Amino acid sequence: MEQSLSYIDQLVAHGLLMETGVDGVYARSAVFEDVIARFDALITAYGSDGGAEVVRFPPQMSREEFERSGYMKGFPQLAGTVHCFMGDEHDHHDMLDLIESKGDWAKHQKQTEIVLTPAACYPIYPIAAKRGAVPPEGLLFDVMSYCFRHEPSRDPTRMQSFRMREYVRIGTPEQVLEFRASWLEKGQNLMRKLGVPMKLDIANDPFFGRTGKMLANNQREQELKFELLIPVVREDRPTACLSFNYHQDHLGGLWKLKQEDGETAHTACVAFGMERVALSLFRHHGFNVQAWPKSVREILWS
Ligand code: ATP
Ligand code: ZN
Ligand code: MG
Repeated sequence: MEQSLSYIDQLVAHGLLMETGVDGVYARSAVFEDVIARFDALITAYGSDGGAEVVRFPPQMSREEFERSGYMKGFPQLAGTVHCFMGDEHDHHDMLDLIESKGDWAKHQKQTEIVLTPAACYPIYPIAAKRGAVPPEGLLFDVMSYCFRHEPSRDPTRMQSFRMREYVRIGTPEQVLEFRASWLEKGQNLMRKLGVPMKLDIANDPFFGRTGKMLANNQREQELKFELLIPVVREDRPTACLSFNYHQDHLGGLWKLKQEDGETAHTACVAFGMERVALSLFRHHGFNVQAWPKSVREILWS
């Protein structure tokens, strides 16, 4: 029977995810959340030696900072913005009528000062910049956020709403490249211990439009993004579960993040897709966590 069900249907049948009526938006079961929590703790065990400052974000960020980030230039197709009703009683009645008649009630919604966070590291740069010059040893943050991307799909590894945990390094080019190189190693070791097959590859972000193609080519040529790919839904098209990004001085320039000598700071981040990692574990070790290999259980539940 399982063979004939799609992967999302299997996850639902086993009670790990629950449908909400919208592709890419799911409720999580206690077992699913426990796997995420265990993996979250494992990341901390691998990353806490760097003395990172822990920061946890709500799933929204400032629209002003979002505009400054250039996200709408690169990825307008993925962004989610927050609009609210700000009218009077007359507007309210009109809006309710439109909702009732399945009309276009968006005209009664006005843009607010917040948007949905597209990646967990976005809100940390303005916070870091406000603190003044980056100290000589650089900065290291441990961030996490629910993230939103408008990419509805029946593929459970492509959610609209998912958690991203990241380590973010801010400093000299040498400091941030050293950080990324060490996480390329650590990230693979961590996933190898969890017994999943993997492959590291150069990657690019899905920049929008024709200029986007050039940006993507440039990103690949300069090896700015690597992904750790694990087969989850399809053997022949593995899923990016971790990514390792070097932004050069791009974000430092946007937020005026400066070194003490006035040079623009460089930044890099390693991102863990929490749901994707959990899904990769269910894919390779089965839907029953009690029956997972002893070595994997010992690492996650010790
Ligand atoms: P993909 O190429 O598969 O779209 P991405 O390049 O967009 O991935 P990043 O922007 O690097 O991914 O995001 C960091 C991490 O967040 C990814 O490595 C992945 O694990 C996770 N992630 C990204 N998009 C999604 C999504 N739609 N659903 C669940 N997890 C995601
Ligand atoms: Zn990041
Ligand atoms: Mg993507």
